[in-house]
Amino acid sequence: MTRPGAVWRNWGRTAEARPVRAEFPATAEAVERAVQAAARRKLRLKPVGSGHSFSGIAVASDVLLDVSALSGIVALDPDTARVTFGAGTPLHQVPRLLARHGLAMQNLGDIDRQTIAGAISTGTHGTGIAYGGLATQVVGVTIVTGDGRTRRIGADDPLLAAVSLGLGALGVLVDVTLQCVPAFHLAALERPEPLDEVVATLEDRVRGADHFEFYWFPHTDVALTKTNERLPETTPRRPIPPVTRFVDETLLANGVYRGMCAVGRVLPPVVPVFSRLATRVTGDRTYLDRSHRVFTQPRTVRFREMEYALPAEKVAPAFEAVRALITAERWRISFPLEVRFAAGDDRWLSTAHDRATGYIAVHRYFREDPTAYFTAVEEVMLAHGGRPHWGKLHSLDADALRRRYPRFDDFLAVCEEFDPEGLFRNAYLDRVLGL
Ligand SMILES: Cc1cc2nc3c(=O)[nH]c(=O)nc-3n(C[C@H](O)[C@H](O)[C@H](O)COP(=O)(O)OP(=O)(O)OC[C@H]3O[C@@H](n4cnc5c(N)ncnc54)[C@H](O)[C@@H]3O)c2cc1C
Repeated sequence: MTRPGAVWRNWGRTAEARPVRAEFPATAEAVERAVQAAARRKLRLKPVGSGHSFSGIAVASDVLLDVSALSGIVALDPDTARVTFGAGTPLHQVPRLLARHGLAMQNLGDIDRQTIAGAISTGTHGTGIAYGGLATQVVGVTIVTGDGRTRRIGADDPLLAAVSLGLGALGVLVDVTLQCVPAFHLAALERPEPLDEVVATLEDRVRGADHFEFYWFPHTDVALTKTNERLPETTPRRPIPPVTRFVDETLLANGVYRGMCAVGRVLPPVVPVFSRLATRVTGDRTYLDRSHRVFTQPRTVRFREMEYALPAEKVAPAFEAVRALITAERWRISFPLEVRFAAGDDRWLSTAHDRATGYIAVHRYFREDPTAYFTAVEEVMLAHGGRPHWGKLHSLDADALRRRYPRFDDFLAVCEEFDPEGLFRNAYLDRVLGL
């Protein structure tokens, strides 16, 4: 959103807002003034990132705070590799900013359009059983709380485990300090493999690789696996040639695929045919490149998504249950399921809190109604101990979430301390945190 008064919509077209005003602070002082002014007028205020959450978590009913001017490197300590970024820095700018210092982010999700603050606030994660979500890279934040004052929460502060994955409920992040790592390359092996074999050997594959994930197009018996190994930056690169990358990622994975989804919507019987075709023409390549060029890809075909975090050992049975469900219901699903993994961590509201975690994500083309599919999949996920991604579609409320997060009430106590008037609340937060 660039103009005050304009309608704000999220990427997945599942949420929109008509805020009464928009603010564009460029400094911590300007954030403080915006928060104080909203508090005086008894308005709610919501910082927004790139609008890539599917849930209503970023909906600003009163004051929308666009933090895109809080961007770039604020401080860098070469001895510790700790780098402080403006909270609104988009992830796609980070590799360029870090490159000249020989550093990189330890892990990333599958796109890089989000802001740092937005990504950490909903528990954005990538894959790799030894690597946590992005919030685990956070070693300090500067935040403006509900009283309009700036607080610094450092690495030794126990509240960092709450504030680094705070759902936007605790205040406005002004800057975020990340523990970075020496720049590295990834050797990528992407190939189609028999689905049954992949599911049967899942644990070995996950434990045997730095970063393992797979996609499955319903109506096929093929898994598109991705196995990435971390290598020193001195390893010579073998990148995908630009033309091949364009054909694979722009033309096939996005352009042609968009057409297939559109046709599949009006003619569902063609979906299985298209899906089998998709597994034949994509997902078979090896290359070696800078980490961010392997972790992330462009995604231009709009979709809706629900993703659940499960105890890692529950992924295979839950996946099989969803597979059986799709067959039994005879749904025609044009978008793949995505299966990823992450290390357990200590962030209070992390979907991987205290347990090695596997993620199952389901998607539907944005012009299709996802309700029946997502509702049924959600039941399967809940039966397997699932926790929903905070930034993706789900139906849980505070009571259901409290049972899934041992530190839930501790988090609410921090909300009470940082935002006693509920200034940073919106309808989504009222639902998931309780009124
Ligand atoms: C195509 C696509 C691919 C995706 N891939 C992945 C993936 O690989 N892994 C994964 O886990 N998720 C993924 N997501 C989900 C996405 O990473 C999260 O929803 C993320 O939160 C979006 O970041 P954003 O910058 O767009 O934040 P927004 O959606 O705009 O906001 C998210 C939250 O952050 C808060 N926030 C934003 N800025 C601030 C601030 N300065 N201070 C305090 N709070 C703030 C907002 O108030 C809101 O609560 C994907 C989403 C899309 C659309």
